[in-house]
Amino acid sequence: MKEDCIFCRIAGKAADATVVYEDSQTLAFLDIHPLTSKADGISIGQSNGKAASQEVFHMHVHIIPRFNHEMMSGFPNRKQTHRAELDEIGRKIKTAIESQKRD
Ligand SMILES: [Zn+2]
Repeated sequence: MKEDCIFCRIAGKAADATVVYEDSQTLAFLDIHPLTSKADGISIGQSNGKAASQEVFHMHVHIIPRFNHEMMSGFPNRKQTHRAELDEIGRKIKTAIESQKRD
């Protein structure tokens, strides 16, 4: 674990995050600066290397909320949020994941 790496700190439970899924190979958590709290659909993005604007150098994917009226043009402006808001969104996502496992 690198102390200066936020992903290592989250995975090592040294930093707080809203975790929505975790198993032996995967950790899914909400971005502390989400794009929005609602969406009509999603895009999945993955960047490799500084030239691709990668900021944390661990393999990771972004699940990007999308609306019907917007064009796909990179990351829209991100918003500031509070832990309680993230935790509420995370609770809904975890519930949806758990309901998918049961079906
Ligand atoms: Zn790391």
